[in-house]
Amino acid sequence: MTGPLLPRPVLPRPVLPHPVTGASFASPVPPGRGWPGDRAGPSTPEAADAGMVQELAASAPDLGALDALISRCRACPRLVAWREQVAVDKRAAYADQPYWGRPVPGFGQDRPRVLVVGLAPAAHGANRTGRMFTGDRSGDWLYAALHRAGYASLPTSHHAGDGQQLTGIRIVAPVRCAPPANRPSAAEQRACEGWWSRELELVEPHLEAILALGGFGWAATLRAARLRGWRVPGPAPRFGHGARVVLGSPLREVRLVGSYHVSQQNTFTGRLSEAMLDQVVAALAAPGQQRPAASLDLPP
Ligand code: SF4
Repeated sequence: MTGPLLPRPVLPRPVLPHPVTGASFASPVPPGRGWPGDRAGPSTPEAADAGMVQELAASAPDLGALDALISRCRACPRLVAWREQVAVDKRAAYADQPYWGRPVPGFGQDRPRVLVVGLAPAAHGANRTGRMFTGDRSGDWLYAALHRAGYASLPTSHHAGDGQQLTGIRIVAPVRCAPPANRPSAAEQRACEGWWSRELELVEPHLEAILALGGFGWAATLRAARLRGWRVPGPAPRFGHGARVVLGSPLREVRLVGSYHVSQQNTFTGRLSEAMLDQVVAALAAPGQQRPAASLDLPP
């Protein structure tokens, strides 16, 4: 015999200490509670759909305001549910940590000369730490290469608040929420394009080079450049490791350089080596300041 169905009790979310600061946070992290790098507050508006993403992105006067708005976005129901469920369930290795569980804004300088464009936050990497490419093996590879080239103050990137500082560079993703199986839908990509396009507009005055990690970052960069009215050579330039193309922003030429993504799939199998990554990072330097590695063995 079964009795009447009783509502499941709403359990309080455990509050856990941040691994660097020791301050306590629930997961996902509420805005404005002191998480390192959190630029949002309780009154920061939430985008509820793709139209609001466009509207709020256009209203952001600078990258600080844009970062805050991005980090409160709830426009894609599937991705919101996934990122928050991952933050509650956690991976066993991080069970004692709070998870950010919100969209991840760009990280780095507000007036960068170089952009690094990835795909989307990793479920237990940036979705846990709240910072791009931070807390997983992909980030270990990327930040080590940026450190060797003088862009990053530390060769590692374990967690927001670890003291990592970037010089002349900013790391972004065209999709800001961790997607299941690293595959955002076409509709989710289009929804997030409002944030990405505005970010490109805000960094445009200073930008000289872009490093696209993987075919997704390459295609998203070309699409955003076209939407911004940049000159993009036709037919569509093909992605490859070391591929290079010159785009025309309204202010200057911007060199787009392709790299295999720093995913474990590529680095574990040897498809992408440290030397190969160093070569494409070196190619981002201003002409005349490029070290010899930038001109070696890269396809034209
Ligand atoms: S993927 Fe982008 S548009 Fe969608 S909820 Fe996340 S931040 Fe918002």
